[in-house]
Amino acid sequence: MRKVVKFGGSSLASAEQFKKAGDIVRADEKRKFVVPSAPGKRNPDDTKVTDMLYACYALAEEGKNFKAQLAAIRERYQEIVDGLGLQLSLDGEFEQIEKNFKDKAGDNYAASRGEYLNGIIMAAYLHYEFVDAAEVILFQDNGEFAAEETNTRLRERLQGVEAAVIPGFYGAYADGRVKTFSRGGSDITGSIVARAVKADVYENWTDVSGFLIADPRIIYKPETIETITYKELRELAYMGATVLHEDAIFPVRREGIPINIRNTNAPDDNGTWIVESTCQKPKYVITGIAGKKGFCSVNIDKDMMNSEIGFGRKVLQAFEENGISFEHVPSGIDTMTVFVHQDEFMHKEQQVVSGIHRLAEPDHIEIEADLALIAVVGRGMKSTRGTAGRIFSALAHSNVNVKMIDQGSSELNIIIGVANSDFETAIKAIYDIFVRIQI
Ligand code: ASP
Repeated sequence: MRKVVKFGGSSLASAEQFKKAGDIVRADEKRKFVVPSAPGKRNPDDTKVTDMLYACYALAEEGKNFKAQLAAIRERYQEIVDGLGLQLSLDGEFEQIEKNFKDKAGDNYAASRGEYLNGIIMAAYLHYEFVDAAEVILFQDNGEFAAEETNTRLRERLQGVEAAVIPGFYGAYADGRVKTFSRGGSDITGSIVARAVKADVYENWTDVSGFLIADPRIIYKPETIETITYKELRELAYMGATVLHEDAIFPVRREGIPINIRNTNAPDDNGTWIVESTCQKPKYVITGIAGKKGFCSVNIDKDMMNSEIGFGRKVLQAFEENGISFEHVPSGIDTMTVFVHQDEFMHKEQQVVSGIHRLAEPDHIEIEADLALIAVVGRGMKSTRGTAGRIFSALAHSNVNVKMIDQGSSELNIIIGVANSDFETAIKAIYDIFVRIQI
């Protein structure tokens, strides 16, 4: 049995946090492969080392003096090394970084040094082998992650390795140039390593005790989700719920490896389990609620629309021709509505409207702005009657006008459209009816 453990930036922001991470690794001998992020914020006003590196490199690229900025980064690491009582010199590493910055090695290289250096420190602290991600995480020339090549390379490299630290967030092209994932990408590295070593679990240690049922900025102290399926998570993440990088799901999902989100500052909490499938009954009918503001609806009316073959395609073609993707398309007998992102649509609305007129010859088009979409997600909905009814009566009691509903055919989610101004009230009403007041 082996576990891959990834620590986020706030879990490694200082020597004190590093010690907590070290204790966690040592507490379970199965925690053999460790993937660190770069040091994050020590307090809300602090700056992440990754951001310091980007800023420092921007100066280097403009040919400006970046000594002070690099010294400040170095200080962050020195504080950790000293605080851990390690006899580790980073002199050679920083000389090399300075030289490469002057040679304009690129911002991907610059940002990757955050994880690289933290990996070296972590390996020294745990007495684990250091494996540079540039050797084992591979990218294709077009910038896409080379999943299969990486899996083979990583498996071979880690064969027979008892315990290793592999820095998160970056890898390299075939020619050795460093390339990073998008921000938060250490989550992806952890998942890739878990797949390669066929781990039993991928533990992702962060600063919260798992996923919350709803956004804590809207709901006071929401409950934590105990178990969530990959599919449910995709639905919630798409609607804005964040804790884990979206792309971190794919490598482990292929192997059926569960992800356990844990809290470095509360290691006894069980956190959230993200699994392929489970027979565990969810505590509530709904697993989570998430939503986003900033949508527009385009309502298209045409008498006898339902008998006109190809009407929907013509309407959507007008959106496609203008490079606009749509979110939902509920329809009635003589109407069809297309939900789009307001910021994308705004600049092109008149082209789209004239396109619809030209292609589909509708009777009337009406645009409504400032709408929000809310996803109520839960595998428990399939076997429970009356979920939609409860949602709508809760919303009606809170005086929220429902503009749209869309239930996915998988019965995993119900999407509700409301005015932006009703967004928070609607989420509170739904949370209350399913979590606070259980019938
Ligand atoms: N350090 C990188 C970032 O700040 C990657 C990560 O933490 O996952 O985005």
